[in-house]
Amino acid sequence: MPIAANTLWTEQLPRSLAREPLRQPLEVDVAIIGAGFTGLWTAYFLKRQAPHLRIAVFEQQTVGFGASGRNGGWLLGCLLGEEQFLAGVGPAQKAALRALLKGIPDRVFEVLQREGIECGFRKGGVLTCAARYPEQHQHLCEELRRLHAAGHSEADYRYLTASELSEQVRMAGAYGAIYSPHCATVQPAQLVSGLAAAVERLGVSVYEYSRVEQWRSGQLTVAGHSVQAGWVVPCVEGHAADCPPLGRYQLAVQSLQIATEPMAAAQWDEIGLADGQAAHECSRQVTYFHRTRDDRLVFGARGSYRFGGRLRENFQLSADELSYRRRLLLELFPQLTGVPISHGWGGNLGMTRHFRPYMLCDTSSGFASAGGYGGEGVGASFLAGQTLADLILQRDTLCTHAPWVTRQQNLSKTLRRWEPEPLRWLGYNAVIAAFTVEDNVLANPTSAPWRRRLVSAVAGGVSALVSPEFKAG
Ligand SMILES: Cc1cc2nc3c(=O)[nH]c(=O)nc-3n(C[C@H](O)[C@H](O)[C@H](O)COP(=O)(O)OP(=O)(O)OC[C@H]3O[C@@H](n4cnc5c(N)ncnc54)[C@H](O)[C@@H]3O)c2cc1C
Repeated sequence: MPIAANTLWTEQLPRSLAREPLRQPLEVDVAIIGAGFTGLWTAYFLKRQAPHLRIAVFEQQTVGFGASGRNGGWLLGCLLGEEQFLAGVGPAQKAALRALLKGIPDRVFEVLQREGIECGFRKGGVLTCAARYPEQHQHLCEELRRLHAAGHSEADYRYLTASELSEQVRMAGAYGAIYSPHCATVQPAQLVSGLAAAVERLGVSVYEYSRVEQWRSGQLTVAGHSVQAGWVVPCVEGHAADCPPLGRYQLAVQSLQIATEPMAAAQWDEIGLADGQAAHECSRQVTYFHRTRDDRLVFGARGSYRFGGRLRENFQLSADELSYRRRLLLELFPQLTGVPISHGWGGNLGMTRHFRPYMLCDTSSGFASAGGYGGEGVGASFLAGQTLADLILQRDTLCTHAPWVTRQQNLSKTLRRWEPEPLRWLGYNAVIAAFTVEDNVLANPTSAPWRRRLVSAVAGGVSALVSPEFKAG
């Protein structure tokens, strides 16, 4: 059976006419670059609080063309690098920020209800599973201890025995899991297109096929036309290479996923995931999966990095890319052998050098931007939109005082530059090679204990050399 290269998500959207490109010079209060979650949430929160603002969103392709319309649909109530961010924060602020992050899925749900956006939202929580080899269980227990020591409660992160886990998802040879309720799953293309329609109803202008060719303080060139703007707000995440100088600080990494054909109820009885739970196994293969509203299993895993940080445009997955994901899927769910894979696709996501997101704003030059969510941007972009809106409107809120906020335009003072090539490429590939060897050895039950310890030590050492927070897409 041929495998569709377009994303499952956009294929499920009703056909609609493209929005008009920009056809003449324009003057606005806020010019937002990029119609993904970050740009649209920023427009949404700005317009709700300050309806008089003239806001335009410029998208080089169509709404949700970037990662927002292609991702795995996990809407997480946390932030990549949260613990490092909160390390130096006082107890009261820390508790308030933790509650802010955990509350993201519920606050998104409130907006969905208010705006009538249907995107298959289900808050089934997230399962971090030890399922492919025993070392994962040890890792899981350490992770749980770390989370509780950092102040998270049993209600936030709870251990599930193998038999408790099997009430939620049935995987071959599972050892146990951590369950957290702070996650929902959504159909991301429906969310981003519903959000675009909502901001338009509020009076925001969204231009498609309107590439921002140049920008500086107060001034942009969009599809050959001049735009004057009080604020310029690039929200381009994994597409930063298309929006200099952001590309030096935010590198494109690809993540890839596959989807099965819809499966029958009897097949799902063998798997579980009945409540829309997000799930992954805690190896370094960065897997993620959930059951869609139309009863498919969507399964993603680590992608790739292209020399020079080049964007990937063709997401027709190669035979190797498909079989790697299918192999991992079948290791977890051998009961799915023979189930056809109908779709394979991917997207570019943005990674900063310190592997943490940023939200920054400079009132003197009228510049604000957010990104670098590193594969955890569906919920984080909601927070970013709210935060950028508060910063632009000069409101004093919990969001604007968060440790991930910087109040200046100078990117080099907030973000570290990536190393030049070929260092990045060599570093990435060394880490991936170490992770692959480790995974092959650990997944083989006959590997000798000394080999298992050695490959894990090497993989841990190599990734720590790149960064303690390294995550491979
Ligand atoms: C395969 C995959 C799976 C993922 N899974 C998850 C997940 O399950 N959960 C999670 O939390 N996160 C996930 N992510 C990450 C998440 O999707 C992103 O972090 C998030 O969508 C980023 O949103 P954004 O609006 O900042 O960027 P994007 O959605 O990438 O939007 C940026 C937009 O800017 C436009 N643009 C760029 N340059 C210009 C220009 N010069 N002029 C005009 N427009 C421009 C682009 O065309 C693009 O549409 C995943 C990402 C991928 C790729």
